[in-house]
Amino acid sequence: MKKHHSVMVVGGGPSGSAAAFTLAKHGVDVCVVDKATFPRNKLCAGLLTIRSKHLFAEIFDAPWDLAFEYEANGVRFFHKNKLLKSVEDCSEMFFTYRVDFDNYLLTMAESKGAHLYQGSGVDSIDLNNKVCHLRSGEEISYDYLIGADGVNSIVAKSIYGKSFDKETIAFALEIEVDKNLSRREVKVPELYFGVANWGYGWVFPKKHALTVGIIGLHAKNPHLKKQFSDFLIDLFGDVPDVKFNGHYIPFGDYRKTPGVDSALLVGDAAGLVDPITGEGIAYAMQSGYFAALAIVESVSTDQSKNVVDVYMKKHSEITSSLDYANRLKYLIFPKLSEYLFVKTFPATTQLPLKHMELIAGKITYKEYSRYVLGKVISGFFKRLLFLK
Ligand SMILES: Cc1cc2nc3c(=O)[nH]c(=O)nc-3n(C[C@H](O)[C@H](O)[C@H](O)COP(=O)(O)OP(=O)(O)OC[C@H]3O[C@@H](n4cnc5c(N)ncnc54)[C@H](O)[C@@H]3O)c2cc1C
Repeated sequence: MKKHHSVMVVGGGPSGSAAAFTLAKHGVDVCVVDKATFPRNKLCAGLLTIRSKHLFAEIFDAPWDLAFEYEANGVRFFHKNKLLKSVEDCSEMFFTYRVDFDNYLLTMAESKGAHLYQGSGVDSIDLNNKVCHLRSGEEISYDYLIGADGVNSIVAKSIYGKSFDKETIAFALEIEVDKNLSRREVKVPELYFGVANWGYGWVFPKKHALTVGIIGLHAKNPHLKKQFSDFLIDLFGDVPDVKFNGHYIPFGDYRKTPGVDSALLVGDAAGLVDPITGEGIAYAMQSGYFAALAIVESVSTDQSKNVVDVYMKKHSEITSSLDYANRLKYLIFPKLSEYLFVKTFPATTQLPLKHMELIAGKITYKEYSRYVLGKVISGFFKRLLFLK
């Protein structure tokens, strides 16, 4: 028998749960369909910033200390295996396992009243007749659809013909290793530049393990696996005997119009990941929340109001920041900048702090860009021209 829900959310990650929780809170009949059965894993380094913490409080109003398992407030920046700068007492960073975090959020959405369909993904979507066909054979019709189904989104594919553009997407590889494998103690997150083209590497501490990964623009890193192996050899002396897991990740190329008619895209499905910091969880929760509010607003005010327009007004809060990041990435990632970076980064105390303030959401990209352009670039050119 065909089922019907006012809103159907495809995907139960942070974006889908934030949307479903908010809709259920407003008394809207909402369901979440996920191909996986929760708790399920999602490849991710698991860094939750202060931005995530604030958004979590705004959306879910639940205990934050259940959302993560490790906390740090320092960071170490490297170029290849050379330490460039150690920053202490910067803003807090929280580390989680997505298997737990996502389950926490989805459980809250369910408790608020969202109906869950797990273990059978959406196979095809008839956007005209507003019906989703599940792999199980079930059919669910809807008034509004939210595509929260990640980077390989079937909702985005149904709207645009493809989930993402291979030229502008990034790819990441990651492993999880026992903390004892490391030659030194890793207490704070470490970021490594110069290990991937248009990308970077990371070692993030958890309670008992380290999450080690590398990200790079897919088109510029045809040999990312080899680069990752080299990075691991530098870190551990050998490639740990664990399977590499890989996943595409948006690189700032977000959907300019995130939806059509009554279908909206959120999170990775809408391409909402910061290309410089790699942060996606906060924007996933925020866009899910905005999409839900847009639907509530459209339904309660004027039925004929275009929900995509309402959503876009809210979603521009995220994209205006990503626009700055997109411009800045052309300054940060090219090879010449790597040289600049290695020269200037250790000499300045302000730049790493500003970078951490940006990651924490304490300063905007506008302020960060002004700082980088004003101070660092002029300082570098003075150095380059031997004027100073
Ligand atoms: C290696 C790596 C490291 C990262 N590290 C960080 C980090 O440290 N901090 C950070 O903020 N961001 C990080 N990100 C980005 C972050 O993981 C994403 O931005 C975030 O998961 C997006 O959330 P989402 O809800 O939009 O999608 P997802 O979390 O991908 O959830 C999508 C859900 O949709 C379901 N689904 C997919 N297809 C279907 C279908 N056809 N039918 C039904 N269900 C479907 C999936 O099972 C999944 O549960 C990282 C990404 C990668 C790849």
